[in-house]
Amino acid sequence: MNEKFVKKKKINLTQVAKEISRLLKKRASNPLQEARIILSHFLSIEMKDFYLLDDIEVDIDKLNLVYEAVELRLKNKPLEYIMGYKQFRLLKLKVNESVLIPRNETEEIIDIVKKFFPQARLFLDIGTGSGAIALSLVKEIKDSICFATDISEKAIEVAKENAKQNNLENRVFFERADLFPKEIMKFDIIISNPPYIDLNNTKLSLISEEIYFEPKIALFTENKGLLFYEKILLKAKNYLNSEGSCIFEVGFNQAHEVVEIGEAKGFVCSIFKDLSGIERFVVCSVKMLK
Ligand code: GLN
Repeated sequence: MNEKFVKKKKINLTQVAKEISRLLKKRASNPLQEARIILSHFLSIEMKDFYLLDDIEVDIDKLNLVYEAVELRLKNKPLEYIMGYKQFRLLKLKVNESVLIPRNETEEIIDIVKKFFPQARLFLDIGTGSGAIALSLVKEIKDSICFATDISEKAIEVAKENAKQNNLENRVFFERADLFPKEIMKFDIIISNPPYIDLNNTKLSLISEEIYFEPKIALFTENKGLLFYEKILLKAKNYLNSEGSCIFEVGFNQAHEVVEIGEAKGFVCSIFKDLSGIERFVVCSVKMLK
């Protein structure tokens, strides 16, 4: 639009941030921080400038977007869906309601790979969603390649876009598939953060109201939330090198059950905690790790 026709308004940034923070008080755990994130995103202001700027002129249209975002937030829509992205390790990832918002604790699965499997180069990410795990692996591990599947066509679209945005499309191969790729290949690592919330969980409201906006298919499953670990471990050996491993993210209190499933199929299993001290990751290896 021609600059002349853009309607401007003078605001005091500190005051507006405080006003929004008051509105968000019931919803957000850190309302002032969220207010600043929303303002920064829609008014294109850098976070550090909140400490430098006071009275500023803004486009009225942009200011309206800020208040629309606040309205959505008050209806519990997650901030990441409102802004359309989530920062995950080194990557800025597009997210929408076709994909789960990658969680902060999932970032740690990449550290496990780097620390305990430094030689691994060929990865399969099952249930890739936004592509968070697959794209981070190839971004951070030199000369690596990742195949990634998801049953949702729309998720694959988002993941492919994320690959392109981050210039990684030559090193990640996405396929719409129910768990394993159609072609049998041997991977060093199969990695997965599958849906793991028990379908019959009646106390969901205790988890978070925000997950109602996320795709159910990415969150819930049968057999007390264990179905995908069972399905993946059942066939994993066909897709793993002789020294290969599966690495899973698991739900609260599921680690030991996943170990049991793995051991019953002949894997050597170990449990890793996340930074909050919760048993969050299970490694199931074909052979004992050296
Ligand atoms: N692998 C993706 C992530 O960790 C998607 C997970 C899922 O949809 N269950 O974000």
